[in-house]
Amino acid sequence: MNIIFMGPPGAGKGTQSDFIIEKYQIPHIATGDMFRAAIKNETKLGLEAKSYMDAGKLVPDEVTINIVKERLLEDDTKNGFIFDGFPRTIVQAQALDKMLKELNRDIDVVINIDVPFDVLLKRLSGRRICKVCGTSYHLEFNPPQVAGICDKCGGELYTRSDDNEESARVRLETYTNETKPLIEYYLNRGLLNEVNGLQAVDKVFIDINNIIEGIK
Ligand code: ADP
Ligand code: ADP
Ligand code: ZN
Repeated sequence: MNIIFMGPPGAGKGTQSDFIIEKYQIPHIATGDMFRAAIKNETKLGLEAKSYMDAGKLVPDEVTINIVKERLLEDDTKNGFIFDGFPRTIVQAQALDKMLKELNRDIDVVINIDVPFDVLLKRLSGRRICKVCGTSYHLEFNPPQVAGICDKCGGELYTRSDDNEESARVRLETYTNETKPLIEYYLNRGLLNEVNGLQAVDKVFIDINNIIEGIK
């Protein structure tokens, strides 16, 4: 099953991906996570991506498309994958179509998690991430059992450098200008499903799960 999760920053893509991975055992391809890993490892890619990410801008299409291309060639993607945060532009979506065609694969479903901007700003400013396993928490909406510590692995929680108010506003603007047009792109392809991301985490998952079960 080949799934794309779409939605603005803070919509809950990462949170919901965790449930899907657990239930369906398919790899999670999150370009944001890949860039953050590259920054941590101080690779050339990391150096290139960092300035864009800190500014709330998108990493250039060519760079992003290349890392996805490499990732899709790995064996574990053969039985399915879930894209989280990719594609984010029409150019990326077209490149993905081409890549999948060459591999004789196709997108099964695109799930767009819809949340209004005022709520997103609160979600981003209260988001905390596990340094070790990447799980997302929220100080108010989804707190860990022990403050500052990951429930799953005991790792330390941190605040992403781009989750400050200024960067978050730019990211939401970038989303509107560059990513939102993808809704129509996938609507025209008959692949788009909308989910109300304002509901509680487990309710959002029920809706997503129903969509996935419906296409299996
Ligand atoms: P969020 O969880 O807020 O949606 P991500 O972790 O997906 O954010 O992405 C963080 C940043 O990484 C983005 O603001 C952007 O700079 C960069 N990035 C991630 N995915 C892409 C992509 N597909 N194209 C370009 N830049 C990307
Ligand atoms: P994305 O990957 O789309 O940027 P995340 O999954 O990291 O979003 O979620 C953003 C923030 O909102 C996190 O702090 C997360 O704990 C919280 N969150 C996710 N889903 C919900 C929800 N349904 N209701 C309230 N808060 C949520
Ligand atoms: Zn953890």
